[in-house]
Amino acid sequence: MASKDTFEFKAEIRQLLDILVHSLYTNKEIFLRELVSNASDALDKYRHSTGHSAEASEEGPDLEIRIRPDKDAKTLTIEDTGVGMTRDEIIANIGTIAHSGSATFMRELAEAKDKSENAVADLIGRFGVGFYSVYMVADEVRLTTRSHTGGPALVWTSDGKGSYEIEEAGDDAPARGTRIEIRLKPDLADQFTDPATLKRIIKTHSNFVRYPIFVDEDRVNTVSALWREPKFQIKPEQYNEFYTFLTYDQAEPLSVVHQSVDAPVQFNALVFIPATGNGFLPLERDNWGLDLYVRRVLIQRQNKELLPEYLSFVKGVVDTEDLPLNISRETLQDNLLLGKIRSTLTKHVLGELEKLAKENEEKYFLFWDAHSEIFKGGYQDFGNRDRFAGLVRFNSSVHEDHLELTGLDGYIERAKEGQKEIYYLYGPSREACKLSPHAEIFRKKGVEVLYLYEPIDEFIMDAVREYKEFKLVSAEHADSAQLDKFEDAEAESKAERLTADQEAALPGVLGRIKDALGDRVTDVRASKRLSDSPVCLVNPDGHVTSSMDKIMRVMTKDTSIPKKALEVNPDHALVRNLIEIYKKDRKDPFIAQAAEQLYESALLLEGYLSDPHALVGRIQTLLTDASGWYEQSKGKVED
Ligand code: ADP
Ligand code: MG
Repeated sequence: MASKDTFEFKAEIRQLLDILVHSLYTNKEIFLRELVSNASDALDKYRHSTGHSAEASEEGPDLEIRIRPDKDAKTLTIEDTGVGMTRDEIIANIGTIAHSGSATFMRELAEAKDKSENAVADLIGRFGVGFYSVYMVADEVRLTTRSHTGGPALVWTSDGKGSYEIEEAGDDAPARGTRIEIRLKPDLADQFTDPATLKRIIKTHSNFVRYPIFVDEDRVNTVSALWREPKFQIKPEQYNEFYTFLTYDQAEPLSVVHQSVDAPVQFNALVFIPATGNGFLPLERDNWGLDLYVRRVLIQRQNKELLPEYLSFVKGVVDTEDLPLNISRETLQDNLLLGKIRSTLTKHVLGELEKLAKENEEKYFLFWDAHSEIFKGGYQDFGNRDRFAGLVRFNSSVHEDHLELTGLDGYIERAKEGQKEIYYLYGPSREACKLSPHAEIFRKKGVEVLYLYEPIDEFIMDAVREYKEFKLVSAEHADSAQLDKFEDAEAESKAERLTADQEAALPGVLGRIKDALGDRVTDVRASKRLSDSPVCLVNPDGHVTSSMDKIMRVMTKDTSIPKKALEVNPDHALVRNLIEIYKKDRKDPFIAQAAEQLYESALLLEGYLSDPHALVGRIQTLLTDASGWYEQSKGKVED
């Protein structure tokens, strides 16, 4: 029976073909990705139907995909040994559009057409349009197929203009599977018969297809899709090799997360935590995202929907069965399914970091060193806030140097009986934090204070606020009553108590200081928190910390100096001297001069003093006076 039947394409296919043929779109190479993925699907189906292993069937041809370019004939042939198609299947699968990914394309096409011609071309580029995309490069296609279920081999031919023909095949038909012969458009023939070009295209999109792909006699895909393999079969070297293949990073990754998830979405993920960071140039910063595969076929490199930005140091791949291959980039954005993958994957990565922190602190610090700058942005992830907070590390007053780090859990372990707050102090360096007047009461009480050196640390504290029933409180807002209940840890080095006269004179001295400073301060009062410093500035409202206030001032370009209360330490020798001076002469100008000096030094410590000239001038005057007195008193002794 050598009859030849002619069929008309359905209207919507004609429309699609028309667009494909006339599209000026440049990314025509994706047709090969589509045909290879169909071949791979057909091989999968065959394998499932027989229960054979992926490597080879016991009888009949090997499971593989062969690509043969012919430069002179200007043809390209793609052949697989998959299930093949019966006559009914050809008509149902290639003659209609309803079931394939092309249906989605047609829906979006209707919308794009209302916009512009460019929108249409763009759409084709972003989509794979399945089998029909071959007409971007073909003048004619001849598909010869033999179904594994038996029946005659058949030939389907079409120039993609309006109709197709089906007839029985001759003796040269494949023993099993499908052969697609493409008569290339003359202007594209050179490009798509060049073996190097074909290999590059396959490596780009189809590198992890599980069946061997040959271009002529050369096998092109040699790396296996490790993420699809069972974890227990994979050796650490294989992970390392794959990591190097993926990132070009020769160093071993710090950690590997390999997950196969079925609910709420199906996906396989193989991701790595590199030992070094991305770099901080804007361009490098943007160089992140996971490669998204749909059934081993690459859909998008560096997809940024699969992980939140604070985990952007993570490298790797995600493969899902739940997305159509032909999904457009636009549809990928804000895709519900990708959102589900992201939240699941985020939990896995956080879990891996928790494990690392617990089991291998040394490695965890390497992670922290390399990636904390990016990771700290996680304070914005409300859903995982507690887990994030548990992973953040700080330097602390209990440490010997700035290289040591602790987490909030470590702090809580060391907290005093009855302590309900975790205290922190912001400063440009460890030395600055230690010298801060706000640190004094903590030292005295032996209460730990976390040292924060970067502005973002304060954003973290502000966002986290509470951790395991401990409130996070900045040292400058610490309620002295909370701290007073703890016994002093330092031996009482306290100066003698004030005498009755001194006690009586103190309010007067404070009043004189207040007079000198006027409304630059909200209040001048005796302090309970100081032990080594004569004065310090405290926020009157007790909410925003000085460093946070500074950040906000920079943002609003506010250069005024904030009004704070000045706390004075009556035990400090300098203040005692002021009291004595006051007792002798209530109006002694030295008190006002000292007040200025103390106030400006406090501003300097808090980082608010923008013009040091007056301060330095006064120091020089004081030094001049002091050196005069010193010289005189020395002279007296020697006399
Ligand atoms: P999709 O792959 O999304 O289903 P395509 O347009 O790529 O859409 O393919 C349409 C259908 O044609 C496939 O679902 C399959 O049934 C059939 N088909 C295409 N290529 C092959 C092939 N090489 N072997 C067997 N069947 C094929
Ligand atoms: Mg397909």
